[in-house]
Amino acid sequence: MFRVRRPASSTVVLLLTLAAAGLARAAEPSAGPPREEGTFLAPDLVELVTLDPTIRLDVHYARKDNFVGRPVYKEARAFLQRPAAEALARVNKALKAKGYGLVVFDGYRPWAVTKVFWDLTPDDKKVFVADPAHGSRHNRGCAVDLTLLDLATGKEVDMGGAYDEASPRSYVTWEGGTKAQLAARDVLRSAMEREGFFVYPWEWWHFDFKEWRSYPILDVPFEKLGVPGAEQKGR
Ligand SMILES: [Zn+2]
Repeated sequence: MFRVRRPASSTVVLLLTLAAAGLARAAEPSAGPPREEGTFLAPDLVELVTLDPTIRLDVHYARKDNFVGRPVYKEARAFLQRPAAEALARVNKALKAKGYGLVVFDGYRPWAVTKVFWDLTPDDKKVFVADPAHGSRHNRGCAVDLTLLDLATGKEVDMGGAYDEASPRSYVTWEGGTKAQLAARDVLRSAMEREGFFVYPWEWWHFDFKEWRSYPILDVPFEKLGVPGAEQKGR
């Protein structure tokens, strides 16, 4: 997802676009997640901080400093399917030896939120969002948005571009950064790939877990996923 950065004149166009999207949505019958054929593993969403409390969260979508301009999550939490969550905890542990940690922006995302993002996004920026007709790998609990934490300073590492920035700087192929910025992207990507995550070519911060096809699209809001920070019984 991206942050809208436009001059004032374009803001009017954007607002009109958003208004049109709202009208179009109101006219449609309320469609839910797509029906999928095949068999899937039983969902087993794990809250990341219950596996490793040193994974830092920075959940923009639970605040208003995101491209929507309002919170789309009621709670600042992050979940992944268990094998992905365990792999991510291993990434965090491996990075510590290099002086880094992980800052997670987003993990599992209910389908209804993907629908909101799609409806609000202009056509020329839709490479940065998932089509709700097919669902997002975030909806399956098998995608994570994240960056590096510098353990020495306690700050997010400069990656040469912001989370959700809709510009070529977000592309994995971007070569305009400083040596340090590009090296930091490599550190993150290598550590993630070692544990079975694959980067999305248009977003340096987005990684899919190798087993994403095994899990169904879900539309369960965070507040229905148990008490924040508590390991869930029977899951
Ligand atoms: Zn993502």
